[in-house]
Amino acid sequence: MKFNNKESFFTKLRVKEQGPLIIAGPCSAESEAQVMLTAQALAKQDVHMFRAGIWKPRSRPNTFEGVGYKGLEWLSRVKQELGLKVTTEVANARHVEEALKYGIDALWIGARTTVNPFAVQEIADALQGVQVPVMVKNPINPDLALWIGALERIYNAGVTDLAAIHRGFSSYQKSKYRNVPVWQIPIELKARFQSLPIIVDPSHIAGNRDLIFAVSQKALDLGYDGVMIETHPDPENALSDAEQQVTPNALKDILERLQVRKTAY
Ligand code: PEP
Ligand code: MN
Repeated sequence: MKFNNKESFFTKLRVKEQGPLIIAGPCSAESEAQVMLTAQALAKQDVHMFRAGIWKPRSRPNTFEGVGYKGLEWLSRVKQELGLKVTTEVANARHVEEALKYGIDALWIGARTTVNPFAVQEIADALQGVQVPVMVKNPINPDLALWIGALERIYNAGVTDLAAIHRGFSSYQKSKYRNVPVWQIPIELKARFQSLPIIVDPSHIAGNRDLIFAVSQKALDLGYDGVMIETHPDPENALSDAEQQVTPNALKDILERLQVRKTAY
């Protein structure tokens, strides 16, 4: 795989500000009002891309599993009315086709999908001949080959605007993190593919809003290209990932405190 970081969609989005690429928005789109309220607050900050999950891969059934297709209309409103780029998670070919119809600017593949080569290949097949940027989260288990394999499947479908998202790895051991970062794995990925943009998702690594700043800073110290931070207007009452989401004001504070390393990775 060969990448051109300078020409990448992800690099170009942030080129003027010099700082990291900033992706923010709720874990889940819950209602049109919640999406618009969050996006309006984020559009006033240095946020480049709005995220919201509409198909939610929950570990257990009988929990909120996302609003589904109607959420695409809300994301499209964010794009049209607020000028923010928008991104959502896709887990199968139908998701890809519908997201593309609504002009979603970038897609991401979630950690529970990256572990499954059949699902990733199905997504790759749906992306054949389509130029949409794709971000691939690491698999939930600490397996670098699976992460690279998923990137390769999407790349082989002709998608060259790729980025990796580091969201930590599931562990049965007790830890202060929800998903242990195992920084060595993304460092090895970056060593193999130096021009591949890499984004940290401190929200899913931390699992707790108090750790978001420290995890983000650590990633920027390692030369990461961007951050994806879950942001909700009322985190305590969020329908998913309530403990780790921050308010738009708290996000502002985190972004102001982050120091960007000037040298390359
Ligand atoms: C998410 O981004 O809300 C999500 C479900 O993430 P992950 O795939 O990293 O668990
Ligand atoms: Mn989440």
